[in-house]
Amino acid sequence: MERVEDIRTELLSRDWEALTAQEAIAWGHERFGAQMVFASSFSLEDVLLIDMACAAGLQPHVFYLDTGVLFAETYELIDRVSERYHIEMERVLPALTLEEQAIAHGEKLWLREPDRCCGIRKVEPLRRYLCAHDAWVTGIHRDQSPTRANAPRVAFDDSFGLVKLNPIVDWTMEDVRNYVAEHDVPYNPMHDRGYPSIGCMPCTRAVKAGEDPRAGRWAGFQKTECGLHSR
Ligand code: SF4
Repeated sequence: MERVEDIRTELLSRDWEALTAQEAIAWGHERFGAQMVFASSFSLEDVLLIDMACAAGLQPHVFYLDTGVLFAETYELIDRVSERYHIEMERVLPALTLEEQAIAHGEKLWLREPDRCCGIRKVEPLRRYLCAHDAWVTGIHRDQSPTRANAPRVAFDDSFGLVKLNPIVDWTMEDVRNYVAEHDVPYNPMHDRGYPSIGCMPCTRAVKAGEDPRAGRWAGFQKTECGLHSR
């Protein structure tokens, strides 16, 4: 990777807010080529970005963190996305299997220490994977939660040491749903059953009408993020 100071200077020289989502992806592709990777949890946003990149004629390099406790519907969606867009997606695994984690830290760590569990099953594998790349693309947008309210469209990600692109950062949830409907983007059927945000099985529940969309994640804990997005 180039010198971090040079990249920071380059990033500060441009008004990223003026770019559309498509323009941000096109810039990232031109700037980083195969060194730019798309992170996918197979949310509406993440699959939308794959759709957008493919529609632009790009072959997005997509990876996902397989914690081993994803929903069957998520694994089925992975197959559907792969077929629809003709792409192989890279499966990134934690260093410990679920059995090894249970031996080292006790059964069902997520019930006692979800931060440690996310650290083992998500953050460390992500860090290991991103180390070998120059830029990553995510589907976060500012109206998802207070912790994402100030997220930039393009910035250097100090947490993981590479450039982070959030192409749809200024989109609303309605914009996302409209794009998905208009482009017939494949999505997880659980979204139609009261699950606006879908993560690992043990840490995801349906939300009731009027509840915060992320209330179904780590219910009963203060935790609202996996630790993957500092902003
Ligand atoms: S979301 Fe839950 S099960 Fe998944 S890694 Fe985090 S704590 Fe563990």
